[in-house]
Amino acid sequence: MPEDTMTQSADELISYMSSPSDEDQALVRKAYEFASRAHKDHKRMSGEPYFNHLYTTALSLAELDMGARTIAAGLLHDSIEDVGVTREELESEFGSEVLFLVDGVTKLGELRYRGAARHIESLRRLFVATSQDIRVLMIKLMDRRHNMQTLEHVKPEKRKRIAEETLSIYAPLADRLGMGRVKRELEDLAFKYVYPEEYEKIERIMSESKLANEPKLEKVRNNLKRALAEHGVANFRTESRVKGLFSLFRKLERKGGDLDKIHDLQAIRVVLQNVEDCYRGLGVAHTLWHPLPGKIKDYIAFEKPNGYRSIHTTVMTSEAGPVEIQFRTESMHREAQYGIASHISYKEQGSNLDRGKQKRERLWYRQLIPSLLNAPVNSEKGQPSAPRWVNDLADAHNVETLTERETFMQEIKEDFFSHRIFVFTPRGDVIDLPVDSTPIDFAYAIHSEIGEHTSSAKVNGKLVQLNTTLKNGDRVQIETKDSAHPTKKWCDYVRTTMARKHIHQYLQRQQNQEGLAA
Ligand code: MN
Repeated sequence: MPEDTMTQSADELISYMSSPSDEDQALVRKAYEFASRAHKDHKRMSGEPYFNHLYTTALSLAELDMGARTIAAGLLHDSIEDVGVTREELESEFGSEVLFLVDGVTKLGELRYRGAARHIESLRRLFVATSQDIRVLMIKLMDRRHNMQTLEHVKPEKRKRIAEETLSIYAPLADRLGMGRVKRELEDLAFKYVYPEEYEKIERIMSESKLANEPKLEKVRNNLKRALAEHGVANFRTESRVKGLFSLFRKLERKGGDLDKIHDLQAIRVVLQNVEDCYRGLGVAHTLWHPLPGKIKDYIAFEKPNGYRSIHTTVMTSEAGPVEIQFRTESMHREAQYGIASHISYKEQGSNLDRGKQKRERLWYRQLIPSLLNAPVNSEKGQPSAPRWVNDLADAHNVETLTERETFMQEIKEDFFSHRIFVFTPRGDVIDLPVDSTPIDFAYAIHSEIGEHTSSAKVNGKLVQLNTTLKNGDRVQIETKDSAHPTKKWCDYVRTTMARKHIHQYLQRQQNQEGLAA
């Protein structure tokens, strides 16, 4: 919504909160008044009142159902830096938790992207800073989102730097937190400024394809809907999923610019009642059309490391050629869009107690929010277990039972990221691994094919042994050879379950083949 037509009010913010207490409402109102007073004479580059920015940031947080203190901190996030409100004043007016959040966002604001070397340092600091409380990162992401939406008002030389920073730091972070919608928004907003020519080209490709394919896709969608109903699948809805422009750009690059190799330009998404229906839906689609081999991805049984769940398939339709279809439940849908926010979107101080299974399952994110550890959890059906990267963390310490895992989670609650390291690909992409990981873990984390053919590794430009322990901020480059393969020794070199599993599978296959040959 454009700012000038926006109806700004504390009531509007409160209307997005789920059953806020009187206290919650009072806090948001107070922050609203305080921020609008503090920024009264403060204008943005575009000339509009600065408060618009604070309001939009807070509104995004309220839409994510982030809780009163986070929304208040969203309204106050620039008050220390920009208008000289003191930390003491913030603390006495809003309490130590709001101050902590505002402080965190202010610190992140000091990070600047300045080319590769500084970039790594920035990222590392960013992770460390945000690891203390994930809410800080949520505020910063929503702050960045609005800054990106209004980037045209910024001086051209600054524009590109901010957009590059968004592509290299904030969008990957949103992705890591499973916030698909935010990631896509940030990427597409930045794309335009970082690669203006490519952006135009991709936009043209997309609109042409839409024009040509929309009616055909509509037929596919209708046929699918009818077939689902005929097979007794009830209560579902379908929507079309259009690929993000930047994501299409990257994929086209990978496919050598060949548009014909991209089948998910537009996809049909089916949101169903439960997991069983997702599999039935897949069955129905495969009855109607022939699936393309290798394109069936069951991210429900095998969720992505960032927690993403859905079933994808690409089918060859007579109506529109190859079409990707995705099946997911409503809660998977929400998670795919809002990621970690969909898990913390309950009141910061709830009252419903459920100390059973849900609590255990939710601990993984609760430990990212120190202040919530002792707060009760709302019980909600259908909550997923922890994303794999969190389980990996527990696996690294060989804890078997849930109780042990719970204890383990408790132990690391305030220091999550000290158990992970962040290393970089030559292109600057971030890969996070457990502490003590080696180049082989890194190689498998990028792709199993790369892992399986690793011949040598360079860390920060120097050739190293494959069992070298990686450190935070290392830049790792893997050399592959067709002739290179895992050996038994590799099992001792790796820390991640993923790498170990692949190595075992490879060795097993070798053994079987030798057995056959003998
Ligand atoms: Mn801001």
